[in-house]
Amino acid sequence: MIYLDNNATTRVAPEVAAAMQPYLTELFGNPSSAHALGRKMKEAVEKSRDQVANLIGAANSSEIVFTSCGSESDNWSIRGALATQPDKRHIITTQVEHEAVKNLCELLAKEGYEVTWLGVDERGELDLDELRRSLRPDTALVTVMLANNETGVLFPMKEIGDIVRERSAALFHVDGVQAVGKIPINLTDTNVDLFALSGHKLHAPQGIGALYVRTGVTLPPFIIGGAQEHGRRAGTSPVPNIVGLGAACELARQSDNHDEICFLRDRLESQILSTIPNARVNGTREATKRLPNTSNISFEYVEGQNILAHLDKAGICVSTGSACHSSTKQSSPTLRAMNVPYTAAQGSIRFSLGRYNTLEEIDYTLGALPGIIADLAAMSPYDKELQALFASR
Ligand code: PLP
Repeated sequence: MIYLDNNATTRVAPEVAAAMQPYLTELFGNPSSAHALGRKMKEAVEKSRDQVANLIGAANSSEIVFTSCGSESDNWSIRGALATQPDKRHIITTQVEHEAVKNLCELLAKEGYEVTWLGVDERGELDLDELRRSLRPDTALVTVMLANNETGVLFPMKEIGDIVRERSAALFHVDGVQAVGKIPINLTDTNVDLFALSGHKLHAPQGIGALYVRTGVTLPPFIIGGAQEHGRRAGTSPVPNIVGLGAACELARQSDNHDEICFLRDRLESQILSTIPNARVNGTREATKRLPNTSNISFEYVEGQNILAHLDKAGICVSTGSACHSSTKQSSPTLRAMNVPYTAAQGSIRFSLGRYNTLEEIDYTLGALPGIIADLAAMSPYDKELQALFASR
């Protein structure tokens, strides 16, 4: 199997599994217990908190709260930020957020909040003047992702935070789920108030996330119950998963191989573009404005689901758009917001690489893909358009 779907989830790193192992066997206590075993568990939780804080440049580890996933961190941030400012009814977000933010904002609009949906251009980039114009005295929250899960396009988090702080009293939430572990992050000199991350995107197990809550920002608990996480998030702490997240953060900090991943992504992308005439990249290709691991490529006039199925048969795992859309036939709202024509959006494939991909795997994929696309193109109802495209190269 060749796994090129690392934005959907990642394999647990061997170092992470090894760190977790004792906590799945003899170290089974509850960190809230007052005995020696409980204290050992608590120490492990606090070590992980430090490791998460170090990776994202939090000023203090007390700013990290463990959650169950990125979606919980996003939901808690947004609901919590609104609950602390009941007189403010305006939210600013973008048209390309993950469902964890987008669907909640749509629900909030139905509940009576006014939501401004910032657009993007054809490269997937935001217009910061639109953000400036949209901020109002009653804006409670600005929620913007750092890295887009489908295209890998990065939004300028520092600049956005500066604008929000300069022009409003709104809280600033960042969905950092796709960025953590893939690019260096330092929250210390930003105006980010809330920052969501998720373990399974960076080689920790599924079922663990975290929320950075800047010192001075207080959110009401999202899950009510015991006093875990200093009363901020109830529920017995899942110590093995927390230890796994800490170990994954440490691994990402100590041995990041972003350059190698970027080299493989660039090789995959440039060779696809040079060998397959109906291929086009969705999103900016400027290195500093996108993740090093992601390439979203449309194969015009060919159905993405069919490409995915053929690649799957060849043992290659990819996604069409985001994994969350794979059960629907709709084209991705992110590509629609970028004005990607329907015939290209329907044929979009997201290749997302990770730390375990090799040159051989990329070259195998490059060997398999042109034949698959040519076969599907031969069956496409858009044969005239395709012939013209193939003839023009
Ligand atoms: N935000 C982004 C940008 C994502 O890509 C994802 C998952 O794909 C999430 C949030 C949700 O994270 P989780 O799967 O941990 O709930």
